[in-house]
Amino acid sequence: MNILVINCGSSSLKFQLIDSESEKVIAKGLCERIGIEGSRIVYQKPGADKKITEAPMQDHKAAIGMVIDALTDGQDGVVKHLSEIGAVGHRIVHGGEKFASSTKIDDTVLAAIEECSELAPLHNPANLIGIRACAELMPGTPMVAVFDTAFHQTMPEEAYLYGIPYRYYEKDKIRRYGFHGTSHSYVSKRAAEVIGEDIHKLKLIVCHLGNGASVSAVKYGESVDTSMGLTPLEGLIMGTRSGDLDPAIVEFIAHKEGMTLEEVMRVLNKESGVLGLSGGFSSDFRDLEDSYHAGKPEGTRAMKAFAYRVAKYIGAYTAAMNGVDGICFTAGLGENSPLIREMVCGYLGYLGVSLDEEQNAKRGEDLIVSTADSKTKILVIPTNEELAIARETYALVK
Ligand code: ADP
Repeated sequence: MNILVINCGSSSLKFQLIDSESEKVIAKGLCERIGIEGSRIVYQKPGADKKITEAPMQDHKAAIGMVIDALTDGQDGVVKHLSEIGAVGHRIVHGGEKFASSTKIDDTVLAAIEECSELAPLHNPANLIGIRACAELMPGTPMVAVFDTAFHQTMPEEAYLYGIPYRYYEKDKIRRYGFHGTSHSYVSKRAAEVIGEDIHKLKLIVCHLGNGASVSAVKYGESVDTSMGLTPLEGLIMGTRSGDLDPAIVEFIAHKEGMTLEEVMRVLNKESGVLGLSGGFSSDFRDLEDSYHAGKPEGTRAMKAFAYRVAKYIGAYTAAMNGVDGICFTAGLGENSPLIREMVCGYLGYLGVSLDEEQNAKRGEDLIVSTADSKTKILVIPTNEELAIARETYALVK
């Protein structure tokens, strides 16, 4: 069955058409600048050049219309008719406490996702627009919602509660939810296969290190803790997000700089992280690595602080699970940067970690990058959130 995977952002839409049997990508692409001047669709078939078409897209419905046109195009399309698309899988950012797994979309589910919009005001409304547009343009095609938060719903109370009055949890559901769940789930399952052990016998830590970054503790196949919280701002130092900080800093900056709460939150979301630490030099780790190798302070202090924070979380989660069998690196930085893995593993001597330099220099495949005698295994597992969404979707509609 051909599954269309849709990931709707506020002004962008990523898509992949995946064959559920071969698990191969048939076509993929991206609509950019939806509702803004200069919108365009980038469309690509495997092995072929990207085809970029500039076209006005006033809203997400127009964008999905363009995606359907591209997929069914007589010349560059990959299906003859819409009926060859068996189901649509939507990535939904926040499922709150309502969704602990993926689910087929109906009116009740739509209403529940809408209710969760309060928790993710930038993301869920865009996701909902994507669902509604597909429902209009592809009537009768089953749709599935796959939530970023669902995998972490197994966290115990002591991990998800914040140390604030309990009434805020009861009344407003303020708690840790965690994100990147599809990736943490996919990578932990794959890691168990690569290690060759039943996931129900393994204690794993997954480090999803991209522009957004989070760590999770996966004990016997279930997420028991994760570094992102009510929102994706908590936890690791990220590309532009601060991660953990003393909450009093918010008030302190607001007073000192004469800023509103919204302005301070913007600084913490958009101007902080390694971008902020490097004095505004770059949020891209390729630039920071160059700076680090050249011995310059900007990149060096940002990389060191980043790696230290990851290592601290690994320590915390090792304690939370009373041990760890494997530590997995994934996403843009985790998959592609031998240096960051080396810097993080430099802190893990107490876990008997020993990196295999030659293995650690490889990229692009599932790898064990620790030596055979390393007490804790270190793995690199390229994540594939679209494939994970396609699998979940197929499982619910087949
Ligand atoms: P997101 O999906 O959160 O936007 P990605 O998982 O795509 O992020 O990761 C993007 C980040 O990965 C980039 O900002 C860059 O810093 C890092 N990255 C990608 N390739 C490399 C590389 N070869 N070396 C170091 N860092 C890399």
